[in-house]
Amino acid sequence: MPHHLATRCVHAGSHTDVPTQGTVAPIQTSTAYGYLHSDERNYPRYFNTPNQQRVATKVASLEGAKAGVLFGSGMAAISTALLAFLKPGDHVLMQQGLYGGTTSLAENDLKTMGIEVSYTSGLSVLDFEAGFRQNTKVVYLETPSNPLLNLVDIEAVAALSHKHGTVSMIDNTFASPINQTPHLLGVDLVIHSATKYLGGHSDITAGLVLGADVHIEQVLAKARHFGGSCEAQTAALLERSIKTLALRVRQQTENAQAMAEWLETRAEVAKVNYPGLTSHPQHELAKRQMHGFGGMLSFELADGIDPVAFQQKLKLVASAMSLGGVDTTVCSAYLTSHRSISAERRTAEGISDQLIRMSMGIEDVRDLQKDLEQAF
Ligand SMILES: *Cc1c(COP(=O)(O)O)cnc(C)c1O
Repeated sequence: MPHHLATRCVHAGSHTDVPTQGTVAPIQTSTAYGYLHSDERNYPRYFNTPNQQRVATKVASLEGAKAGVLFGSGMAAISTALLAFLKPGDHVLMQQGLYGGTTSLAENDLKTMGIEVSYTSGLSVLDFEAGFRQNTKVVYLETPSNPLLNLVDIEAVAALSHKHGTVSMIDNTFASPINQTPHLLGVDLVIHSATKYLGGHSDITAGLVLGADVHIEQVLAKARHFGGSCEAQTAALLERSIKTLALRVRQQTENAQAMAEWLETRAEVAKVNYPGLTSHPQHELAKRQMHGFGGMLSFELADGIDPVAFQQKLKLVASAMSLGGVDTTVCSAYLTSHRSISAERRTAEGISDQLIRMSMGIEDVRDLQKDLEQAF
């Protein structure tokens, strides 16, 4: 029986510093490793230096996966994972409404390479079933979705993928392994932008892919060619950050629940999207597949409140594009992640200009509520 998640955050994959018996392993910056003494061929772009491997082992353990690869960014992880399993003539079935960078990769790069891309017309299991083709090789998910926090039934879609003999992948960035472990629900590969919750302090860029050995070997083979590796100092910072992941995410989740419930009582707010609310249409599914409801929420400002003026008035909460840090941040999807999407398509997807996405930090939620109140 492995240790519980919070214990694995601290200890999994970690080493003591052998010469000093210090609890923290050293940062090893070498790019020239000896080869006569062992069969290993260590090199940063082979993704197998000590600092890289410790983080990959730690997050693989958190996700209940056998192996992992640490990348220099979330997009390096996503693009390498997709191209490890797709070649010209293949089809990838993608969930509707993915992270903007992933959609842009699919539209601008996968399609030019002769890879067929299609998106589900909704988020139900039937929408996924309807999307399979003869040549489908990969099914790609992201739940909870950005910015509306809609959910996909992970276990059901993973089972569909196995039935069709395809490889399933999920971007688990929003939930983090503290709140959701999709590999244990049957998804083959779990992907993270470690720039978000895993890093958690809005100061490093990294990414990970976790899964079974056979799949990870295939990802690694491509990764060594594409070269999106993470250097030692960043890996060491990330290792340090993940030691507090369970603590941070627990507080962020608690804050999100309190904020969402409070926002629902406010006249200045037309609608709140958060899987932890009983008003969320998929609250029961959230309870089934998530360990916690997460630190992300979104809400629609009532008509007459200008979303930009509202954000300019905030004092404690920062208007910033990224998410998952210890500082609470807000952003408008129509000015950031969904800026390149036409207004008609945004409206069709339910993303109004009044929508504010919020990433809860670890501050005292009462101070955050007071800040919102004065800005409304
Ligand atoms: C930020 C993000 C990415 C991309 O990660 P980078 O580290 O910025 O390359 C992918 N997916 C989601 C859900 C994200 O939020």
